[in-house]
Amino acid sequence: MLPILDWVNNMASLSDLPCLCNSKKSYAQCCEKLHLGTAYATTPEQLMRSRYTAYAIKNAEYIYQTYANEKQQENPLNDIAEFAISSRFINLEIVMSDHNEYNGIVEFCASYFYKDLFCKLHEKSRFIKEENVWKYLDGEIFPTTETHIGRNDTCPCGSGKKYKKCHMNA
Ligand SMILES: [Zn+2]
Ligand SMILES: [Zn+2]
Repeated sequence: MLPILDWVNNMASLSDLPCLCNSKKSYAQCCEKLHLGTAYATTPEQLMRSRYTAYAIKNAEYIYQTYANEKQQENPLNDIAEFAISSRFINLEIVMSDHNEYNGIVEFCASYFYKDLFCKLHEKSRFIKEENVWKYLDGEIFPTTETHIGRNDTCPCGSGKKYKKCHMNA
């Protein structure tokens, strides 16, 4: 997968690149329209993917806006931005998703660096519909692994390169 910074620095053709949520579609045909506000997620899984991609491109505003109203106060924009800025998102895997008209669940695994920690988050998220729009409510978080990565360690992203030559500065 393309290092995130290459992706972000390449704004001109961003739309044509594969979406970071791992959907195998282009960004334009996947999460971009949700980020631009020209479309709404039609399923909780779509919303979850677009929130992941928003973290990856450090669009804190979108993450904040897609929290359920009652959760916005406990997740202030500054905290979201601080986390996104200190993180590099590597991979998303959807384990399962399901929804009815008003509620949904998405279980996923996300891997990312937070500073020099390589983290694997496994979460079962709950989504609700507010004024006909899907929002993220909260999630049950399974034990998260955090591994400290040294400069000369092999980068856990799978590139085969040393961390210092790969995601350390990405
Ligand atoms: Zn996407
Ligand atoms: Zn890497």
